[in-house]
Amino acid sequence: MTDVVLLEKGYLCHGASGRNGGGVRMQWGTATNIALARRSIELMKGFAAEMGINIWLRQGGYLFLAKSNAVAQKLERSAELHNRHGVNTRLLSLEGARDLVPGLSMKGVQLAAFNEEDGVIFPWAFLWGYAKALAKHGVKVETFTRVTGFELGDGRVKKVITDRGEIACEVAVLASGAWSPQIAQLAGVHLPNEPHRHEICSSEPLKPFLGPLVSVLDSGLYFSQSMRGEIVGGMGDPNEPAGMELGSTMRFLARYSQALLEQLPTLGQVKILRQWSGPYDVTPDNSPILGRTPQLPNLLQMSGFVGHGFMMAPAVAERMAAWMCTGHADELFTRFNLDRFAAGRLEREDMIIG
Ligand SMILES: Cc1cc2nc3c(=O)[nH]c(=O)nc-3n(C[C@H](O)[C@H](O)[C@H](O)COP(=O)(O)OP(=O)(O)OC[C@H]3O[C@@H](n4cnc5c(N)ncnc54)[C@H](O)[C@@H]3O)c2cc1C
Repeated sequence: MTDVVLLEKGYLCHGASGRNGGGVRMQWGTATNIALARRSIELMKGFAAEMGINIWLRQGGYLFLAKSNAVAQKLERSAELHNRHGVNTRLLSLEGARDLVPGLSMKGVQLAAFNEEDGVIFPWAFLWGYAKALAKHGVKVETFTRVTGFELGDGRVKKVITDRGEIACEVAVLASGAWSPQIAQLAGVHLPNEPHRHEICSSEPLKPFLGPLVSVLDSGLYFSQSMRGEIVGGMGDPNEPAGMELGSTMRFLARYSQALLEQLPTLGQVKILRQWSGPYDVTPDNSPILGRTPQLPNLLQMSGFVGHGFMMAPAVAERMAAWMCTGHADELFTRFNLDRFAAGRLEREDMIIG
């Protein structure tokens, strides 16, 4: 396709894609997400060669910890599903987990699950790499350009209206993460996604010691060590109300440091250097909204990736591009269509951190 333009109201990493933990994992609760994540990781491995930028992929694995019986059972069920789909997730005893991360207290933990192919990347480089490749292929990347409306006619989007002018289009793709419902509303379309702030922080750099990203699935605590040595981590807050709030709080720092030190007491004296937040784009079933808008078929949806859109993006975008350009059917865009909510046909994913 030619004549493609990407519109971004701020700078390139302004949204959740520039604010996330960079975690990429194959440990999911559905066969679809396992396959998408596996394909994404494959694409990430070749990213430097293909896009000419180092995204600092480090495959140290994901170590999930379960405290309650219910979460331990979830880990057992998902490990079995992973193994059936060719992902080598292993259930570990407390000692087995401690062998992977010396110093882990394992306080209150009853079971662990580990897949060594999971890992972390550096999100900003990932976006810069895609933007560079888009420019090379003639796509115009227009930053600081806000979508303010749509011109509709004959049941279609005819123009996208921005604060820098109007663009006539054959197809418009709404891929604005947690802002998507606001923008869809400009075309009279209701999306059920809700933004929820998630806070995250980064410590001073430490000598490399932490292999996997560690996550206590019960509380939504997660932390990993970046290639620069920082401990990057966060934790969901069940009391966080819905809304586009992107500030930082002391409450988060207190909850996160308490939960982190409970599992890794040796980090007690480490300094936090930076704290920020970003929006999770939460749908009623924790799965994305993909494909044609029922009442506006040339407005394509691609949002609702909750807290895992970064790792799903390469695989979903690849499928989306093939589907858009060839017209060949792809069940992803019918199964995850917006119409599933009205039809009560939910696609629930429950391996969600936070
Ligand atoms: C703290 C945190 C940690 C996370 N950790 C992970 C993780 O470890 N792994 C993972 O895979 N995912 C993670 N996620 C989720 C992941 O970041 C998102 O799912 C993903 O980045 C969503 O990408 P997106 O392109 O859909 O949305 P975004 O990256 O949010 O991009 C949407 C863009 O739309 C722009 N926009 C808004 N309104 C307009 C307008 N009117 N006109 C033009 N542009 C507009 C915004 O400025 C924004 O840049 C995390 C999220 C958060 C907040």
